[in-house]
Amino acid sequence: MSTYLISVAIPIYNEAKQIYENINIIHKILTENNINHEFILVDDGSRDNTWEELKRLSHDLPNVFAISLSRNFGKEAALCAALESAHGDACVIMDSDLQHPPEIIPEMVRLWKEEGYDVVEGVKSSRGKESIVYKVGAHLFYSILENFSGFNFDGASDFKLLDSKVLASWSTMPERNTFFRGMSAWLGFKRTSIPFEVTERKEGQSKWSTLKLFKLAITAITSFSSLPLQLVTLMGILFLFGSFILGINTLYMKFKGVAVSGFTTVILLLLIVGSTLMISLGIIGTYIAKIFDEVKFRPRFIIREKAESTRKECISIDTNG
Ligand code: UDP
Ligand code: MG
Repeated sequence: MSTYLISVAIPIYNEAKQIYENINIIHKILTENNINHEFILVDDGSRDNTWEELKRLSHDLPNVFAISLSRNFGKEAALCAALESAHGDACVIMDSDLQHPPEIIPEMVRLWKEEGYDVVEGVKSSRGKESIVYKVGAHLFYSILENFSGFNFDGASDFKLLDSKVLASWSTMPERNTFFRGMSAWLGFKRTSIPFEVTERKEGQSKWSTLKLFKLAITAITSFSSLPLQLVTLMGILFLFGSFILGINTLYMKFKGVAVSGFTTVILLLLIVGSTLMISLGIIGTYIAKIFDEVKFRPRFIIREKAESTRKECISIDTNG
């Protein structure tokens, strides 16, 4: 077995049907590759038997830490809960549905241990079976985010290996609304990526509703860029410039004694200015809502219950880092 310990952090929501088997598959692959590991499994307030399955796992497998949140806080918060409990020399973050192939974990670990990378990112080489709308949506979202924030997220996924020092820096980021992909890109460090094919979900459906995805997209954009706010200022300047020209025109007409024929202009102006104002207020409102969320300083998640394996196998923390 390896001298270092890898924490495998997995957020889980309503996956009772497949979680037991999936964790066993991951456990088998890691054991075969002599990777000393622990599992941090977070039940994100599932409404099925997921928690019972996690307790069963903590009974049957060594080094399993299961955490149950008091309600569904969302994947991002569940991930935070998992990462806070990880004490390995490196941490692998992955989904519970095997869409992130565990077969490439040994390669991630090798890149980390032997080539000294601090962050190894799994990058989707294809997005698997998704509807066209979903694919286009994801692409659009990532390109907007890239242009706004200056970070490249193409093919980004939450499948990553992070060194413990990256995790330590990550935990100093105090924000309540987390967007893990963005935060880990923001952190920097020596990073590399491995492509992987998204396999099909074995059991059940994606746990992300369109609304949840939309909310995540708004959090991502508002927490990584204030460009939309500046856009409002830019629009304001443009319209000011336009009204200046129109103003001169109006005055000129008035002094020439031409009848008031600018009804259309007035209506158009009203519409344009009105809508721009509303959009602007909306954007500002979104940011204020985020600020409001942050200053409340609520915990990101609440833990209801914990379960831990009684069997501990060869956990030896590598003190050399
Ligand atoms: N998940 C979660 N909380 C949620 C939604 C999802 O912990 O509110 C977990 C889910 O169990 C899975 C991972 O997040 O392990 C990714 O979810 P899913 O496979 O449904 O998303 P997709 O693969 O469609 O992006
Ligand atoms: Mg999935």
